[in-house]
Amino acid sequence: MTEGNDRIQNFIDGRYVEPLAGAYLDNIEPATGKPYSQVPDSRPEDVELAVTAAEKAFEQWSRTPSAERSTILLRLADAIERDLEKFALAESIDTGKPVSLARNLDIPRAVSNFRFFATAILHTENEAHVTDGVAFNYTLRQPRGITGLISPWNLPLYLLSWKIAPAIACGNTAVAKPSELTPMTAHLLGEACNQAGLPPGVLNIVHGTGPHVGQAITAHPKITTISFTGGTVTGRKVAETCAPMFKKMSLELGGKNPNIVFADADLDAAITGSVRSSFANQGQVCLCGSRIFVQRAAYQHFVDGLVDKTSKLRIGDPLEPTTEQGAIVSKTQLEKVKFYVDLAQQEGGRVALGGRAPEQINDRCRDGYFFQPTIITGLAVGCRTNREEIFGPVVSITPFDDEEEVIRYANDCDYGLASSVWTQNLSRAHRVAEQIQTGTVWVNCWLLRDLRVPFGGMKQSGVGREGGNEALHFFTEPKNVCIAK
Ligand code: NAP
Repeated sequence: MTEGNDRIQNFIDGRYVEPLAGAYLDNIEPATGKPYSQVPDSRPEDVELAVTAAEKAFEQWSRTPSAERSTILLRLADAIERDLEKFALAESIDTGKPVSLARNLDIPRAVSNFRFFATAILHTENEAHVTDGVAFNYTLRQPRGITGLISPWNLPLYLLSWKIAPAIACGNTAVAKPSELTPMTAHLLGEACNQAGLPPGVLNIVHGTGPHVGQAITAHPKITTISFTGGTVTGRKVAETCAPMFKKMSLELGGKNPNIVFADADLDAAITGSVRSSFANQGQVCLCGSRIFVQRAAYQHFVDGLVDKTSKLRIGDPLEPTTEQGAIVSKTQLEKVKFYVDLAQQEGGRVALGGRAPEQINDRCRDGYFFQPTIITGLAVGCRTNREEIFGPVVSITPFDDEEEVIRYANDCDYGLASSVWTQNLSRAHRVAEQIQTGTVWVNCWLLRDLRVPFGGMKQSGVGREGGNEALHFFTEPKNVCIAK
């Protein structure tokens, strides 16, 4: 347990406060299956308090010069970086991910999010249009008011900061809700905000469940902008609540991402990259490539290589520095993974690796939610295992013959978040990238991120884009001013 944090509190108006009804939920450590802290089980009244604070803070914050907002956000990034070890430990305990991943990836990326948007707001440009010598138009981009920011459990601080940073950098205030499964890093963030001198009420964090807190945020009439990341089913509910109120929404939803390996690829690089894209964070990254398609001439070599490299991943206590595969986030999620591995076998799949829990890790982790990285072969492209998002350490590999066939396979899916293509043929890379229906196409890489590029999904993977200018535009209201000559 992180010292002194056994009971998490809401962060409202710059202060840590108890939930009004005094109710708490156990916060379970996935590696042990035991509660290690408590998280507020907040209600709409707590959201109301946060909205009041955010509304009051908006008056001043929206008029604060961008250079000043920038300085405060940079100080916030510094504060997180100073406490990187504390944040990484909290994230590892909360999520079950290896502490090395939290330390080297998640927390540094959260720091980058704040730095990126702190400086981006210093370099924005306003559009101007001259209308045939009769008028002059310019576009004012103004903060939209109180934003509602809802995030999932897989990359808790990274995804929440990806929303908070652009929202408040643009002069909005925020009511944020992290997943109740992984609240600890958001809890620590309040302290960092105060150290950075963020004015009270600019960022408010209300902990609790989706049906109570998430729903209250999306339904609140004073919260006009909703940025949501989570599953497609929940996203649909969020959209249903927001649509009649004409709220501005960004929905970053689920994925079932294709990972395509052509026989002309650098196969060593493709295998190494695919181990990461399949099993990073126990496969619990929305961008993980869970449907692998390999051209027939390279199929057996690739399967053998992937099985071999994956079997060497060190599954262990997430707090051990050498662990590469930690625990699944919750018992429910573990049951879901097991369900799909059984289903895959009923659908004719063969388990080439994994398929069950590992041997006991250590005494501390004997009741933890662990599952071996699992590789399945022999499934039909259109079966349920190949269509539905599992969100765990399970991938399926299917052979294909030619480009046209694999593009059809890749697009035969309700989701469209991201894809990877491995080939040394540049023309093919361009051709395939153009035809794949996903918001991001990685060629000869995976999860290489440039924060300036639009990020988001097609089809049922979401609506809208985040990142760079997309986020700055999303969190501002464009107003055209037309001046006649
Ligand atoms: P989830 O169950 O949809 O939950 C996401 C967030 O929404 C949580 O904070 C949740 O609260 C809240 N929520 C639940 N019901 C709500 C409601 N009725 N109204 C408003 N908010 C509500 O997703 P998850 O299981 O945490 O995360 C996994 C999913 O996220 C996967 O599908 C994954 O692909 C997706 N994801 C997408 C991206 C992307 O960028 N596209 C990135 C990461 C993850 P509780 O936790 O308290 O239920």
